[in-house]
Amino acid sequence: MPDSISCVAELTSERDRDLLGISVTEVLGRLLGARVLNLWHVVEHRQVLHARLMAGLRPGHPIAMYDPLMEAIECPLLMDMEGMHECWRSGAPVHMPALDGSASVHYFPLHATNTVVGVLEVEHERALDPAQQELVDGVLRIYRNHITLLDYSEHDTLTGLPNRKTFDTVFARRIAHQSVIDSSKHTIQLIGRRRNAMPHEHPWLAIVDIDFFKRINDRFGHLFGDEVLLLMTQLMRSCFRASDALFRFGGEEFVVLLSPTDDDGAHTALERFRRQVEAYAFPQIGHVTVSIGYSGAVRGDDPTVVFERADDALYYAKQSGRNQVRGYEALVAEGVLATKALRESELDLF
Ligand code: GH3
Ligand code: MG
Ligand code: MG
Repeated sequence: MPDSISCVAELTSERDRDLLGISVTEVLGRLLGARVLNLWHVVEHRQVLHARLMAGLRPGHPIAMYDPLMEAIECPLLMDMEGMHECWRSGAPVHMPALDGSASVHYFPLHATNTVVGVLEVEHERALDPAQQELVDGVLRIYRNHITLLDYSEHDTLTGLPNRKTFDTVFARRIAHQSVIDSSKHTIQLIGRRRNAMPHEHPWLAIVDIDFFKRINDRFGHLFGDEVLLLMTQLMRSCFRASDALFRFGGEEFVVLLSPTDDDGAHTALERFRRQVEAYAFPQIGHVTVSIGYSGAVRGDDPTVVFERADDALYYAKQSGRNQVRGYEALVAEGVLATKALRESELDLF
């Protein structure tokens, strides 16, 4: 089988987008004989563009990548990277011959539907010939098509948020620290600085449930209900940090995986969101509120168990008048959830 065909087979067998980026880098490095090859994604932080290294091939270090837990703000500014910035801006390949003749650098845009989402940087001893450039273009198109397919199966079609299916993988990566490194067949060198969480800081799982959502559907119709779900998603996206992972769990239930913080930090972030929803005037519908239950997730925790704890806290918030944020750990400390468990066991007797 020609090498390029077996590379296509290798790429399209990948079901994990991080591993896919690593494979693209490795495959193109092999096909081109490039000495340095970097796959960058363009990420935005407060309207400023940064370049996140998804995977890079370096002499001596087969694959390098930024720590996935690094915030976008810690990645280099796109505007500081001349050839790359130009490639991203124009959406066309850019070639920068080395002045001293030591290496030639090419930049190739990574297109999504209407935008350029990343740039592939190739450093080679000689300028790439047209056939090599075509090969890069083809491999990048396969990469994008494959990402689009993954997006389709892993995202909710209404809100565009990741669905329940992706939750377990993200949870495992963040809480169990099962990084992409463990699953890759390559040796990966992590670069960049991960903000070291303090001992009392860890991720938190919150369930956000819209209050009396059924009434909205009943009174205004399903289409208006859908509109509320879309606007709620926008509010969530603007209110939480880029490092907090958002999911739609079906129906009018959302899940937020907050990046490491303490109980106060988690409560403050969730309470800020609850207040923003309360203050927001939904067109034609007016005011809508949410109830939120949350619980801490520490290394070794099972996602189902953490979810159940947050769900217990959410149940308590609903029972206590809705439109409020409740933390499982605080409720246990107050003895409230023990009372609930007792009530359930009392009920079991009858
Ligand atoms: P509570 O305050 O106790 O959460 O009450 P609720 O009415 O929000 O909760 P309930 O679980 O009784 O109703 C949820 C409703 O969400 C029922 C279902 O019709 C509606 N729903 C689920 N998925 C969708 C959707 O995709 N679009 C719309 N418009 N409605 C949906
Ligand atoms: Mg509800
Ligand atoms: Mg619900």
